[in-house]
Amino acid sequence: MIVTRFAPSPNGSLHLGHAFSAIVAHDLARERGGRFLLRIEDIDGARSRPELAEEFRADLAWLGLEWEEVAAQSSRLASYAEAAARLHEMGLLYPCRCTRAEIAEAALAKGSDGPVYPGTCRGAAVDPAGPVAWRLDVAAALARTGPLSWIDERAGEQRARPDLAGDAVLVRKDAGTPASYHLAATLDDAADGVTLVTRGTDLFPASHVHRLLQALLDLPVPTWHHHPLLLDADRKKLAKRRGSPSLADRRRASEDGRALADALRKGRLPAGITLGEGLDGLP
Ligand SMILES: [Zn+2]
Repeated sequence: MIVTRFAPSPNGSLHLGHAFSAIVAHDLARERGGRFLLRIEDIDGARSRPELAEEFRADLAWLGLEWEEVAAQSSRLASYAEAAARLHEMGLLYPCRCTRAEIAEAALAKGSDGPVYPGTCRGAAVDPAGPVAWRLDVAAALARTGPLSWIDERAGEQRARPDLAGDAVLVRKDAGTPASYHLAATLDDAADGVTLVTRGTDLFPASHVHRLLQALLDLPVPTWHHHPLLLDADRKKLAKRRGSPSLADRRRASEDGRALADALRKGRLPAGITLGEGLDGLP
């Protein structure tokens, strides 16, 4: 039986792209007699708006979806700290004080997440007191695990290349947000028994890092399903734009949510919106 999930962050309203992602995950679970989970990713304390979680539930019900809700990230901080401590004991984390601007200037390559961190602070004896980010020494981690692979249902077997994105931040600099997306989502998926990680192709590169974390932390390895993205007229990932209604706006305007879900399933998209693999596409 598969277990998959939709995991939105409550720092903005959901839009059509989120609806598409939730419907893909929901339908994969239903087609295979599996479970569809909702996880609220509210780890970003400063930006999270608790009232939005309630809005998300109303949006999903309006689309005609049914789900099981699991614990929100804000209740799991101890598990993130414990995992970070384990990686620290293995000697795989190092402190980094670089700013975004410094990284942009020093970067030798640009990844899907912006400039690739060139490893400035690796082995540089940075004082860990005060606000520092903790990065994973990816080369040392890969030396420990050996070669890794993972399977995307659409793209097939992948050789894990976490090195392509540079040394990922696992513990963020701002004290209000202890774990990065990479660490929190990987631990949560394991804790929730997720066997199929469903999300957009924009997160394809993140899966290389998550596969490495699973190997380091002895976590079960799921299968991935990276679905195409809804793209705007500029072929950019659909985001909440000025004047484009959120799901909540549409719901409050008495639009038929089940009809909208059905249209998205059949690829009948609003004018100016197309389905594509995103900027990088599948490898
Ligand atoms: Zn640094």
